[in-house]
Amino acid sequence: MDIILFGPPGAGKGTQGELLAERLQLQRLATGDLLRDAGRQGTPLGREAKRYMEAGELVPDAVIMGLVREYLEEDAESGVIFDGFPRTEAQARALDELLAELGRSLCAVAVLTVPDEQLIRRISGRCTCPQCGAVYNQHLDPPRVAGTCDRCHSALVQRADDDEATARRRLEVYAQQTRPVICYYERTGTPVRHVAGDRPVDEVQRTLLELLAR
Ligand code: ADP
Ligand code: AMP
Repeated sequence: MDIILFGPPGAGKGTQGELLAERLQLQRLATGDLLRDAGRQGTPLGREAKRYMEAGELVPDAVIMGLVREYLEEDAESGVIFDGFPRTEAQARALDELLAELGRSLCAVAVLTVPDEQLIRRISGRCTCPQCGAVYNQHLDPPRVAGTCDRCHSALVQRADDDEATARRRLEVYAQQTRPVICYYERTGTPVRHVAGDRPVDEVQRTLLELLAR
């Protein structure tokens, strides 16, 4: 069971993807997380990606496909939830080809929809745990102790690209380059399901579980 969690930055893909992965015993592949890991390790790929990420632009398709291929060939034992990938039609086509090569296929694309102004509020309040990946929100879902992860007690960080100006650029990039990928899946017959993401976390999770059970 391979699934795409699709939607603009801040829609809740990471939050929902973590919960779904645990519930359905799937692996979550978030290309943004892989790129940030590479950036922290200071690899050449991480350094190249950082320039694009800090500007709110997309990292080149070839870099992304290299990471995804490596992950699927080496680490994907169970079904995968793709989070933040694909973000261009070229990535979507390359993923279909790669999955076919590996004898797998997509079962659904779940699109989380949230109004833009709410996305900006969510993104500007987001803080994450660099250690265990837990996601919080200073305004909407704060940790028990400010600045500290509830799960592993590490210091929380704010992403460099979560300031308002970069967030607005990321929303433009989503509208111009990523949202059209939904039409690609509609054309090629992978089931596309739209889910209202501006609901409480547990309600969105229930809706996702219901539609994936169909
Ligand atoms: P994405 O992975 O799509 O960029 P995240 O899962 O990181 O989005 O969520 C963005 C921010 O919004 C985080 O601070 C998260 O805590 C918060 N958030 C996620 N889902 C909801 C929700 N349903 N209601 C309110 N805030 C949410
Ligand atoms: P995310 O963690 O999904 O919000 O992604 C953060 C940033 O990483 C994006 O703004 C892009 O610069 C880059 N990125 C993540 N995934 C991709 C992808 N599939 N294609 C291109 N760039 C990506």
